[in-house]
Amino acid sequence: MEQTPEELAEDLLSRLRMGGIWEPAGMGLTYMRTGEKEIELMAQENTSHAAQARIRMGILVSGLGWQVKEDKVQINDVVNQDPFQRHMEEMVRRQEIAQTTWKCQTPDCGCLLVAFPLEERKWVFHGEEEYQLPDGNVVAEERWTVDVTCPICDSVAPMDPYEFGLIAGDELMNEFVLPEVTYNAVERPRVIELTDKRSNNLIISGTVCPFTGATMPPHLRGIPLMFTATTGEEE
Ligand SMILES: [Zn+2]
Repeated sequence: MEQTPEELAEDLLSRLRMGGIWEPAGMGLTYMRTGEKEIELMAQENTSHAAQARIRMGILVSGLGWQVKEDKVQINDVVNQDPFQRHMEEMVRRQEIAQTTWKCQTPDCGCLLVAFPLEERKWVFHGEEEYQLPDGNVVAEERWTVDVTCPICDSVAPMDPYEFGLIAGDELMNEFVLPEVTYNAVERPRVIELTDKRSNNLIISGTVCPFTGATMPPHLRGIPLMFTATTGEEE
């Protein structure tokens, strides 16, 4: 049952969207899918560990019949960086790639995802999916997409929630709009303020919305949320 490294890589690569980013765990390498059977190495950390991993990955991936482009690899100095700074820079870099390269999947459309009406997104729950970990254990994970409609060709782009976050930013991620009620994640100072005012609009949500029974996106469960009635402006 166990997948070989080749099968694992093949599986990951084939599911990667065009322009999607692949960062194999613990290797210090950042790849982007750039073609039908082509990936490009965007960045490598300046450690000997990452340099060796780069050679190994090159052999592995080209062995699967994929091209690995390495023309403009950015070498990132991680040796003199603290982990927090590193993390922040990584996020900025991913966001830049997402916002400047991810496009509508319709052939010949080419509208950038960042130009989609992101505030009209719909969170769609597709049920649970089981998958096998490298150690053989099977785990179930909820599968969600954030669907946004292309303003040019009207096709619906189902985005992975993490990818949607890169494109749309925190503000839209922290808001969940149902037809009846809108939730917003609130930071601690606002929680204090609302509690002092004895506001009735503060709630900590579990798995489902207590008013409508809708399933809440996982990242908004168990944290303070403010809820307000959804105003039907768009309808
Ligand atoms: Zn389009």
